[in-house]
Amino acid sequence: MKTLVVASGGADSISTLSLAKGEVEIISFNYGQKATRELQSVINIAKKLNMKYNIIDISFLKEMFGTSNQLTGDSDIKPAYQQNVVVPLRNSMFLQIAYIYALTHDFDIVMLGSHMGDCAEIDGERLYPDCSPEFFKAFQHAMDLGTFRKEKKVQVVTPSILGLSKFQLLQKGYEYMNTLLFESWSCYKSEELHCGNCESCNNRKSAFALAGIEDKTIYAQ
Ligand SMILES: [Zn+2]
Repeated sequence: MKTLVVASGGADSISTLSLAKGEVEIISFNYGQKATRELQSVINIAKKLNMKYNIIDISFLKEMFGTSNQLTGDSDIKPAYQQNVVVPLRNSMFLQIAYIYALTHDFDIVMLGSHMGDCAEIDGERLYPDCSPEFFKAFQHAMDLGTFRKEKKVQVVTPSILGLSKFQLLQKGYEYMNTLLFESWSCYKSEELHCGNCESCNNRKSAFALAGIEDKTIYAQ
């Protein structure tokens, strides 16, 4: 059994490693994000867990995401969710590339760390539409149709498919790697410390509180 995990370096994707089965390998992406610290986090954690990792450079796509995106463009990072924090179909793109890698390197499962919180709705619309169980089901179906019948089928598994919320996911991650989880990088900025102010830092704080785990992350604020 071999599992490939798409990991950004944030607490969610790093915790997803705890759900991976068999031989585990990590795939990460430089997509032109401001928070390059998250990739340093992946490398650091992969080394400490003795896991093989790959950083795929797709930063040439940055221009395609437009200038108004919070994560890759000129917009300031905001403390609460706004739609321009969503890089259009970023997760589906990660998953597509990871799926191809999984297919050509004999993996059984590919995992991506989206959880139920990413699927919450505002005005009947998912916060991150390409993180929902129904999206992954459709993606799986498309991959099954897009590959030869005789080829091994790679299974897409995510915490959202398993019904896990962010705090439940962090609990699993903490059980698995203990304080190493605090070496994950959630902040949308790339400063020396987690800013403690952006949406992602705020979500990290509240999820650790809900999980009943003392948050040892050092926040600037
Ligand atoms: Zn932050």
